[in-house]
Amino acid sequence: MTQYKMLIDGELRDGVASIDVVNPADESVVAQCPVADEAMLNQAVESAHKAYLSWRKLSFSERGAYIKKLTTAVEENAEAFARILTQEQGKPLAQARDEVMFSQLFANHFAECEIENKVLSDDDNGRIEVLREPLGVVAGICPWNFPLLISLYKIAPAVMAGNSIIIKPAPTTPLSSLKLAELIADIFPPGVVNVLCDNNDLGPAISSHPGIAKVSFTGSTPTGKKIMASAADTLKRLTLELGGNDAAIVLDDVDPKQVAEGIFGAAFLNSGQVCIALKRLYVHESIYDELCEEIGKLASAAVVGNGLDEGVQFGPVQNRMQFDKVCSYIDNAKANGRIIAGGEVPDAPGFVVPLTVVRDIEDGAAVVDEEPFGPILPIVRYRDLEDVIKRANNSDYGLGGSVWSSNLDRAREVAGQIDSGTVWINQHCAFGPHIPFAPAKESGLGVEWGEEGFHEFTAMKVVNISKAYSNPVH
Ligand code: NAD
Repeated sequence: MTQYKMLIDGELRDGVASIDVVNPADESVVAQCPVADEAMLNQAVESAHKAYLSWRKLSFSERGAYIKKLTTAVEENAEAFARILTQEQGKPLAQARDEVMFSQLFANHFAECEIENKVLSDDDNGRIEVLREPLGVVAGICPWNFPLLISLYKIAPAVMAGNSIIIKPAPTTPLSSLKLAELIADIFPPGVVNVLCDNNDLGPAISSHPGIAKVSFTGSTPTGKKIMASAADTLKRLTLELGGNDAAIVLDDVDPKQVAEGIFGAAFLNSGQVCIALKRLYVHESIYDELCEEIGKLASAAVVGNGLDEGVQFGPVQNRMQFDKVCSYIDNAKANGRIIAGGEVPDAPGFVVPLTVVRDIEDGAAVVDEEPFGPILPIVRYRDLEDVIKRANNSDYGLGGSVWSSNLDRAREVAGQIDSGTVWINQHCAFGPHIPFAPAKESGLGVEWGEEGFHEFTAMKVVNISKAYSNPVH
């Protein structure tokens, strides 16, 4: 079994204990993961702070060169990363390879980013400059759905902006980040990037740590709220990318056959374990039956199983807790609607759940109102467009949403009324490193990616120069 180690102060280190990492396809143990205690966290913060003092002095292109070296090393190890991802996270190998590719894409994007200082005014009296400076030590706390992608899309902009970072992966998917740590150890100066693992218990020490200037968190809304509370004492900068319950509204002018595949893919990608997956589908009554049938057919034909097996298109749910949650949403769907695909969970080791589609279900059922974060799609009928927009907006979440129509002007008009950080038209779940991702309502706080997301790893500083000695009292 491969021995994985954490990265602290440039050294690959064992933990104070270790935990099993379980393959969600069959519940076999893939590897042992070392875990840190608070003393190790303190060492990482101390080392990260020391590293930051020199790292911040490098130019953007010097810092970018380190990131590019890392993405080249990821590329050289791409197949190993993909296999680790499938074994720890469950996704089929082809999608694991996509995740590795996307991780490089995001990191390479930020490796090219720079921030130019602005000069607001410059005249005989003075000069006002607006600078963006690094924050110091940043922490990235990650979930289990895209472990490598999320680690790298936090590391790259953070260090590119001149910060050092401590990454903490989710306890059920730490291995790809630990493999990344091995590569980082050979490339970056000690302390610039640290990777620490836990048994789901180190988060509060990170979010309250006086030596950490910012937490970039991706995970659930309840955990995001805990982080916000615990970060208050030190008034940390926060980026919180949290849960979502994205609604899609299908207008009466679409051909169900033409949209079915796009909707199906956006709902079931990564077995529905995507924050911006399509999670509630509202369909006009005139095309309701036909679209339900098309989506039901696609879901029934899908091959779900062990992601390492040839031909498998969808992997298991990632962990036992999430599996139990998804099973309870399937029970809720059965009690409140009619299952037209899936619905029967095999009695076997592993967390495989067939892609499940439920129709004739209404708002108010838990599977519609809450975020199942698994392979289950409720399809809700509507008659009145104004009413369905209200229903789509009637959620504490506001991550994404989509409108599907053959008339782009009409779709754009509806998109303007959806209360979410991103609204797609005739697609759902499209994202990229150059596109800012800004959650609304209880889906989070701040921005990731794009220029705005990059700037969140900096603090604004104004230098206001008077060319002669000046006195504010006249
Ligand atoms: P989670 O909130 O349970 O865990 C996420 C991370 O937070 C893990 O590393 C965990 O160890 C850590 N953590 C747990 N308790 C903590 C605490 N008190 N303080 C600090 N950290 C703590 O989330 P999850 O179950 O891993 O992920 C699923 C959720 O994440 C879903 O709700 C999903 O929508 C959301 N998500 C959001 C995005 C986004 O960009 N908005 C992306 C992916 C996932």
